[in-house]
Amino acid sequence: MNYQGQKLSLTQTSGNVALLTFAAQDQAINKFDQATLQELAHALDLLEQQASALIGLVIQSDKQAFIVGADITEFLTWFGLPDEQLADKLRDTHNLFQRLSNLPLPTVAAINGLALGGGFELCLAADFRVATESAQVGLPEVKLGIYPGWGGTVRLPRLIGVDNACEWICGGAQKKALEALRFGAVDAVVADGMATDSALALIAQCHAGQIDYQSRRQQNAAPITFAPVEKLMVFESVKSVVAAQAGRHYPAPMAAVKSIERSISQSFDEAITTEIKGFITLAKTDVAQALVGIFLKDQQVKKVARQITKEVRAPNQIGVLGAGIMGGGIAYQGASKGVRVVMKDIRQDALDLGLSEAQKLLNQQIERGRLTAPEALATMTQIQPSLSYESLADTPLVIEAVVEKAEVKAAVLAELETIVSSESVIATNTSTIPIDQLAAALQHPERFCGMHFFNPVQRMPLVEVIRGTKTSAETIAKVVSLAQKLGKTPIVVNDCPGFFVNRVLFPYFQAFTQLVSDGADFRHIDKVMKGYGWPMGPAELLDTVGIDTAYHAAQTMAASFPDRMSHDKTNVLDQLFMAGLFGKKTGHGFYQYQADRKGKIQSNPDEGLALSWMQEKLALTDAQIIERMMIPLCLEAWRCLDEVVIASPTEGDMALVYGLGFPPFQGGVFHYLDSVGAKNFAELVSQYQDLGPLYQLTDGMRSRIDQGMTFYS
Ligand code: NAD
Repeated sequence: MNYQGQKLSLTQTSGNVALLTFAAQDQAINKFDQATLQELAHALDLLEQQASALIGLVIQSDKQAFIVGADITEFLTWFGLPDEQLADKLRDTHNLFQRLSNLPLPTVAAINGLALGGGFELCLAADFRVATESAQVGLPEVKLGIYPGWGGTVRLPRLIGVDNACEWICGGAQKKALEALRFGAVDAVVADGMATDSALALIAQCHAGQIDYQSRRQQNAAPITFAPVEKLMVFESVKSVVAAQAGRHYPAPMAAVKSIERSISQSFDEAITTEIKGFITLAKTDVAQALVGIFLKDQQVKKVARQITKEVRAPNQIGVLGAGIMGGGIAYQGASKGVRVVMKDIRQDALDLGLSEAQKLLNQQIERGRLTAPEALATMTQIQPSLSYESLADTPLVIEAVVEKAEVKAAVLAELETIVSSESVIATNTSTIPIDQLAAALQHPERFCGMHFFNPVQRMPLVEVIRGTKTSAETIAKVVSLAQKLGKTPIVVNDCPGFFVNRVLFPYFQAFTQLVSDGADFRHIDKVMKGYGWPMGPAELLDTVGIDTAYHAAQTMAASFPDRMSHDKTNVLDQLFMAGLFGKKTGHGFYQYQADRKGKIQSNPDEGLALSWMQEKLALTDAQIIERMMIPLCLEAWRCLDEVVIASPTEGDMALVYGLGFPPFQGGVFHYLDSVGAKNFAELVSQYQDLGPLYQLTDGMRSRIDQGMTFYS
């Protein structure tokens, strides 16, 4: 019965057990692309023909991961199909999985590594699942704006119960093998490398009549019957949890619950029809388009980074100059990824604070069970605090993260250059000051570039790597490889004040301070922008960045782009800065921050200065607030693309999603502009043009809009 395809093979043991082995020859991972599905169909033909000579089937993988899921690069083509054709495609795969479920022999999935999405749905179609200790399973489809479409919403609830299945499907999280065992989603967890042996043993037990796989099979496919009141209670409570967690911009989790609610009491075939119907509705949403787009763009930017770093190795040791919010965060991130860090500051109290912040983050990891106390201790010992420059002498790469003042940075960088070796790279974490301007203080500007982290460092995925005019390609490659080693997504941009992300962010802040100056309530703006999908409102973001840091950065941006980023009268940011209310770091800014009894920081609007700006109410609708905030951001992103600060709309979209938390369901700023349509956007901008240069298209933009341009074809 031997079959050897490009994606999988079918063989038979001497004990008459068929082994279906996923082993994509052309890829490092197994995934369900069209070719794999075709080969699976062929393997099933053979299995059906020869079932009478077999006592069971083991499904396994010869890769590190089992099957990572469906091929997402094919999704957008599928989603664009007319409904009927998409339904046929889904049904084709259902039929394959159903043929596997109907084989007249016991079937066992031997899961090693990751079995996700379609890969896990295949496992669910088997009678039993044996997972290795390091395996992880899950249905992460909601992260792409859809739900499982190959039987996951039908089989999982019947296997592990409605509440649990909704939690798995709506959360989209990967579950470790032992957790999956606890839920009943897998039948056994065995040592790594033992999955197939255990699966064979299970089949032997079935063959010996010790396990009745037929009754198990019927049980797994049978509808669950509820008393009407019970069903109502179960689903209403699940829906309220899911509504609160997913929020209104992400429809997939709630659609999954509703589909399960409908299908759970239906026959298996009816339930599959229900799943397909709901899946098609989701696949046609803008959110699914946007989120699948984000996934694909993420792959593209990572590929660019891999090409840049092909010939370099990331350093194992770095220096960090400045132990403040950012320096402390970078030191923690480095240490937690196994990089030794020398952290230097001019103040002992700053070093103590930086270390205590790192300790706090490690304690959180211990509390969440992600780290043991000895591991946390080992991480802390990776950070060597220092008050002396000499301690940086042997570090191959130093990241400068001192205060955002050009003259201070220039002096510090020049001094640093005299200390480090002639091979060392110096990177600056400046938020806004042009790299070329800072490079003027250095003898070797070719070994200098920007390495712009985002706050909080441990959570934000982006590192913007800024190429100055004189920066060498080798320097960029070293810094990009360090960013990768620290678990970040690096995006290389060209130099200008604010680089890409802050150049786009500061017009957004400018729109905010202008709104407040015009009498809008900052608390209301925060609420509206959070509701729109940002992780936090602009006032809270300013408090998080630090009012002082934002103020200095705003000065740089105003001096660089005076037409649209400067202002005449003192604004609320200036006032807070002058009053020394620097936001979270001082406990007061727009909001005041106090620890509650459990030590958790709570925020309330500050009763003082910020509220005093609410002199008169400005009557604006929520839509107007959103438009006034978003137009300057979109226009500046577009300018950056035109000026080649960023190389492509893809990099621009990912930089804002990963650096600022630009609402992912919008797919990034350029995806958003395409979905609004350039002409409609121009029309919107014209409604606000009286507000000044922040709300104006350039001539170049106008002429391309007239030509019907789009950012993505
Ligand atoms: P911070 O005020 O929290 O920390 C600055 C630290 O630098 C302080 O500990 C100070 O003692 C130290 N310092 C000052 N002069 C020094 C010197 N000569 N040698 C060594 N240490 C010195 O500031 P921060 O928010 O961490 O910002 C640091 C840099 O990171 C700035 O360039 C800022 O623009 C940039 N940045 C900040 C954020 C943010 O959200 N705060 C985000 C990205 C980038």
